[in-house]
Amino acid sequence: MKTSQTAQEVIEELGTDLSAGLTEQQVKERTERYGYNELQEVKKDSLLKRFLLQFTDPLIIVLILAALISIIVDPGEWIDSLIIVIVVLFNAILGVVQENNAEKSLEALKKMSAPQAKVIRGGQKKVIPSRELTVGDVVLLEAGDFIPSDGRIAESFNLQIDESALTGESVPVNKTSEALGQDDVPLGDRKNMAFSSTVVTYGRGTMVVTAIGMENEVGKIAGMLMNSGKETTPLQNKLAQISKTIGMLCLVICAVVFGMEMFSGMGILEAFKTAVALAVAAIPEGLATVVTIVLALGVNKMVKCNAIVRKLPAVETLGSASIVCSDKTGTLTQNKMTVVKTYLPEAGIQDFKAETAGTDVKELMRWFTLCSDGEVIPEAGKLKMIGDPTETALVEASYKMGETKPELAKTYVRSEELAFDSSRKMMTVFYQTDDGILSITKGGPDIVLGRCENFTGKAAAEEANETMAKDALRVLAVAVRRWDAIPENLDSENVENHLTFVGLCGMIDPPRDEVRDAIAQAKHGGIRTIMITGDHVVTATAIAKNLGILEPGQKAISGPELSAMSDEELEAQIEQISVYARVAPEHKVRIVKAWQDKGHVVAMTGDGVNDSPALKAADIGCAMGITGTDVAKGAADMVLTDDNFATIIHAVRQGRGIYDNIRKDVQFLLSSNIGEVLTIFGASCISLIPGWNLGVPLMPVHLLWINLITDSLPAFAIGMEEPEPDIMNRKPRSKDESFFAHGLGWTIAWQGVMIGTLTLISYILGNRDAHEIGMTMAFVTLALSQLFHSFNVKSEHSIFSKQIFSNKYLWGAFAVGVGLQLLVMYVPFLASAFSMAALDPSHLMIAVGLAFVPVIVVEITKLAHRMSQR
Ligand code: ATP
Repeated sequence: MKTSQTAQEVIEELGTDLSAGLTEQQVKERTERYGYNELQEVKKDSLLKRFLLQFTDPLIIVLILAALISIIVDPGEWIDSLIIVIVVLFNAILGVVQENNAEKSLEALKKMSAPQAKVIRGGQKKVIPSRELTVGDVVLLEAGDFIPSDGRIAESFNLQIDESALTGESVPVNKTSEALGQDDVPLGDRKNMAFSSTVVTYGRGTMVVTAIGMENEVGKIAGMLMNSGKETTPLQNKLAQISKTIGMLCLVICAVVFGMEMFSGMGILEAFKTAVALAVAAIPEGLATVVTIVLALGVNKMVKCNAIVRKLPAVETLGSASIVCSDKTGTLTQNKMTVVKTYLPEAGIQDFKAETAGTDVKELMRWFTLCSDGEVIPEAGKLKMIGDPTETALVEASYKMGETKPELAKTYVRSEELAFDSSRKMMTVFYQTDDGILSITKGGPDIVLGRCENFTGKAAAEEANETMAKDALRVLAVAVRRWDAIPENLDSENVENHLTFVGLCGMIDPPRDEVRDAIAQAKHGGIRTIMITGDHVVTATAIAKNLGILEPGQKAISGPELSAMSDEELEAQIEQISVYARVAPEHKVRIVKAWQDKGHVVAMTGDGVNDSPALKAADIGCAMGITGTDVAKGAADMVLTDDNFATIIHAVRQGRGIYDNIRKDVQFLLSSNIGEVLTIFGASCISLIPGWNLGVPLMPVHLLWINLITDSLPAFAIGMEEPEPDIMNRKPRSKDESFFAHGLGWTIAWQGVMIGTLTLISYILGNRDAHEIGMTMAFVTLALSQLFHSFNVKSEHSIFSKQIFSNKYLWGAFAVGVGLQLLVMYVPFLASAFSMAALDPSHLMIAVGLAFVPVIVVEITKLAHRMSQR
């Protein structure tokens, strides 16, 4: 394609049609020929490489070294080393599989929020995934869209595109549909082309796709290939750090114990075995995998409640959110607008009834309709609305009075326009009429009236606006101006000035049903909801009061008032302000920062092009899935697929639950590790007493078996726990709160000591009869106590309540864990590999009885805790 060609030449060359687009048959043929519109992904690591990467974990290296040295030191016990290797291999395989699954579900998530394109195909407007675009497709562009592929501009209404991603030029480029004087112009000067990965910042236009996929300019830049890098959250990093520290610490302890045992005259072989067992006991092998899985499962659950997490760390941040700043229209309200009132200077405020409306009202609504991009199409006995609800409400009102857009288009030919934007809060269109050129401007009454020539009824119009807004109506004004010719300078200051006022209309937008409850629930959970809206302060106040956002003692301020405040003033007053009305998107960043300076974690919603700085500045940027622009979605941490405020509160609940589950898992796994270390360490300390040589209570294989198999199963199940029922009664977690806060560290310690002591008692009791009996009993007590203990950890509430049955996965994990344990003990080949002795009933009962003790002890502490809280 040449830039010197006219748009029509390009369209013909590509064999397409501007008004009807490609036919389905053409699309099929071209897709077969050119493939899909996607960039080649960076090749992923092969399965083998991922498998081998598992062995770069220092903890795993310690284990393998231990196995190797064991075999050198004591070749007779090769089975031991073999089992270690098998378990480690099994764990590596499990790791690869689980990571693969987690990654797949995150990739599926990314696909869900993949960009879409608005095209015309077979004469109809359609929204398709950008991937399915093909050469010759006609794409409609409006502010906020990502350009889905390279194309030639065929129509431009003040179309401006930010091409900084491609050219580095930060000022948006004005695009034209005209042919350029020459070919071979540099990328930044190809004003009649649009390029994939750039963004429409203003205006409206149409382009015809000229290239797709790797043929796009962005495909030619090698560095911009899609990168599917692994994402980890701060908590994951913190836990990885903790695991490493534990590993290091354990090496030191091993060396000390080794020295101690050598010093006490124990043989080097024995001392070495103890040291290896200790190393295995102390390393939380399964922890990292468990946390990865819990996060992935949690994120999947959130999808089911309509929140797509785009950035994994947001899952953790959600649990700390204490301020939710929400847009009004569509998020708190239904965005189902209906015109219910009109105002004309001569007639005053009237209820709007299409059947009985007079010609003056019909004319008023005609001006509104002509100044709208929405469309209303009858389909299967119903009216289908296409476009922004504010606009379709206007078009619908006219439609009901018998004035349709296609009919109007016969008399009124649109020639220029100044698109709506949230900062200006109005829009203007130019029409060629029999009486010359007419511009129609519609927007917020306070804004439009300010741009009108002075007229006698101005005060009355302002009062009418106020009256309607008090009823929670969204009010729009319309004004006109005549011109001799289309002005050269299409600036707002020039065009949207010296207008003649026509009238007002008021439309109702009912609140969403579930929002009031969600706001109350949030408040209960220490989360304050703030309304930020472009709407008029009176309308916003009425709705905010109705929803419980604006309470006595709190106030609503407007954008201009906010602008007039210094940072200090805002800081002093921010706690009292619940509603910000008539704000521009630029104000949002200031509000976010002010709350953040007060130490709050802020969630912020957004949908427009100019919302992306606020979405980025907020701790949790939430973009609207339905009405949101690509730009907003790209900047957000989370996308709400139903645009609903209540979804944010659901997501916070899930976020709190996920964090809780990770804490429970860490408690579960680390208390097990401490129990194991204490068992080995305790035995070796007791062995220092002359005549009390206890030997090693558990072999590395036993410990690995427990850490990687019987502990991992309940740990995954705990990760599936539903959030605690009272989770939304808690205050938000402070963002600098330590992971081990609220006594978690202490709980891990005492529960570890308890499990270690019980295991040691079990060992000592059995060891009196034979070393192997002691070892088997210790193994049973340790493995079973963990399986029982998982029910303690699952909830803060008593296990003697109905919550005990709430997690079927945990029961499954328990059953499988017990089954595997029985296999190891009673299948002869396994029993001999694990050096298991046959236990008689009394030994078995003691071992099982001791394993049950944690349930009783923890129940008592839970009871004590409940009593102390009362
Ligand atoms: P929120 O920010 O809560 O989503 P909003 O929808 O009112 O609220 P904007 O879409 O930025 O925010 O609109 C701001 C104001 O601009 C509206 O209150 C209204 O007065 C005016 N307005 C909205 N849509 C249009 C439109 N299509 N044409 C002209 N004016 C509009």
